[in-house]
Amino acid sequence: MSESTRHVVVVGGGICGLAVAHRLSHAGTRVTLLESSDQLGGLGTFFPTGDRWVERFYHCVMPTDDSLLALLGDIGARDGVRWKPTRMGMVVDGEHYGFNSALDLLRFTPLRLRDRVRFGVVSLLLRRLGKGKDLDNLRAEDWLRKLYGDVIWSELFAPMFGSKFGDAFGDVPALYLWQRLGRESNVATRGYPEGGYKAVIDALRASIEAAGGVVRTGTPVQGLRSTPERSHVALADGEVLEADQVVSTVPLPLLRGLADAELADRLPTLSLPYQGVVNALFFLKRPLTGNYWAPVLRSGTEFDGVIEMSALAGTEVYGGRHLAYVMHYTGRNSALYQEDSEVVAERWTRQFLDLHRDLGLTEADVDEVRVFKAPFVEPVYPLGFLERRPSVEVPGTSVLLATTAHIYPDVTSWNSSVALADEVSAMVLAAVDPVAERV
Ligand SMILES: Cc1cc2nc3c(=O)[nH]c(=O)nc-3n(C[C@H](O)[C@H](O)[C@H](O)COP(=O)(O)OP(=O)(O)OC[C@H]3O[C@@H](n4cnc5c(N)ncnc54)[C@H](O)[C@@H]3O)c2cc1C
Repeated sequence: MSESTRHVVVVGGGICGLAVAHRLSHAGTRVTLLESSDQLGGLGTFFPTGDRWVERFYHCVMPTDDSLLALLGDIGARDGVRWKPTRMGMVVDGEHYGFNSALDLLRFTPLRLRDRVRFGVVSLLLRRLGKGKDLDNLRAEDWLRKLYGDVIWSELFAPMFGSKFGDAFGDVPALYLWQRLGRESNVATRGYPEGGYKAVIDALRASIEAAGGVVRTGTPVQGLRSTPERSHVALADGEVLEADQVVSTVPLPLLRGLADAELADRLPTLSLPYQGVVNALFFLKRPLTGNYWAPVLRSGTEFDGVIEMSALAGTEVYGGRHLAYVMHYTGRNSALYQEDSEVVAERWTRQFLDLHRDLGLTEADVDEVRVFKAPFVEPVYPLGFLERRPSVEVPGTSVLLATTAHIYPDVTSWNSSVALADEVSAMVLAAVDPVAERV
């Protein structure tokens, strides 16, 4: 079968689905991308405020995001990424600290002097100390306690990890942390795309459509059955799309709900818990500390970190306003996640003001507050996940999986989703042309 007659359906219009549809449509494959919501972008999606579009969840690009930057190059958006050095802060017991230099560390009084020194030395060596170790089978807590000692673990790392992974925080493989340190550091150059993430998503859609691909938003997939030769994708009003292959980018718990009994039996059995997120945006009339991000520990807030996005993206993109995001990662069944967004916005505004009172922030400085939630953000990886990671192929079907559960040990990011999309697209193309190399 030639590329032009073969039909591939991509389920999900987040960055992973968009990147797959982009690669395949430009390789001459007939592609239909289906997105349930009325907007593309998935976790990188946006909302209108004034005459601007702003990301619901804070997003930035790192200089090491090679796969993403290559994709941006393909759609003419790479030169539009604005790079800037960014800095980190830390808030402990309501006090704000810089957390960027040796001097900052010496002034970081929540730790005793000898712990500060130990923290600095071990942090410098951490990437090297992890080399050659089986970090996938080592609990993050065991590794960090051993290197940093009990005090630094319980005062600093436990609250920071706990905020991201909930009760399972100590059990996450040390490899996850090691990878994360490879992507980020305190003082780091970060990038923000010109026109925001919406401009990138719009450019991707235009590029897919220019290559003949079909992009349908507001089109939830409601059922899926599959044999090795053919898949049937059920939509609303009885419409069924036939496909030679399906690439599903939706989280596995959602896919299980769409699959017929036969396909469900063939899907990976591993049931990975996911952390969701509750995140608020504060549009402000004045800046905060100028630090891009600051974990917030023991400071009477329900949120665990502040991202001052305008320190990276500037204020013009927000209509002259400053923008700070605050967030708490939590399960989708938690009381906070289930709570009404308006109520969360009101309570978190009080906490946000209290946290920044020393900086002179008052109610009059807050122009607008928005709360957004997402149910499936961070898979909570178990120990030894490198071995147990589900395969991209679903045996006995024509379905391929490309989800955030497949990117481990990479950190969940647009970059790792694009890298996975490249890999899966190459597999789709190789199924027709066995000599096809990576796209
Ligand atoms: C608070 C926060 C901060 C982040 N910060 C960064 C950052 O700074 N930099 C970075 O690179 N990444 C960041 N990320 C991570 C990044 O957003 C994700 O890793 C990435 O967007 C995942 O993309 P995806 O396409 O794999 O999944 P998703 O974006 O989840 O896309 C899946 C899509 O499938 C759709 N879907 C679900 N069910 C169906 C159905 N039945 N039919 C059709 N469609 C369906 C969904 O609507 C969604 O659009 C952040 C995420 C969050 C939440």
